[in-house]
Amino acid sequence: MNPINSIFDGVLKSNKYSITKQRKLIFDKISELAPVSLFDLINSLKEIDRSTIYRTIDLFIKLRLIKKIDIGFKYNIELSELFSKHHHHFYCSKCHQIIDFDEPSGLEELIYNLANKYNFKSSEHSLEINGLCSNCQQV
Ligand SMILES: [Zn+2]
Ligand SMILES: [Zn+2]
Repeated sequence: MNPINSIFDGVLKSNKYSITKQRKLIFDKISELAPVSLFDLINSLKEIDRSTIYRTIDLFIKLRLIKKIDIGFKYNIELSELFSKHHHHFYCSKCHQIIDFDEPSGLEELIYNLANKYNFKSSEHSLEINGLCSNCQQV
């Protein structure tokens, strides 16, 4: 079994959720398309009832299998950091492309120290930078 599948199975089992065919199907689709919008995900899973998809997404978020990338009022979904290295995103507001970037050294520490300064115990963070990708800057 590939590592992504074994992590998925492990998280569901250890939280006493069964690995249903639909859950697996939804997860595989997210894994294939991520980062993906809810709209595109629903469209690519026409065989599954919409409310089942919503419920499953909520469950996956609760179990930290996936996470939301906030983009204005909407969000995209990607696999959580159980599956990928910690990273952040650039979001192009014109072509809607999401570009991952690795954390530059020092940023993590900076965020940690900032939280500390406010006596805030940070458990996780996300960072989305909006703007224009290199293609979209050329008009
Ligand atoms: Zn762009
Ligand atoms: Zn970070």
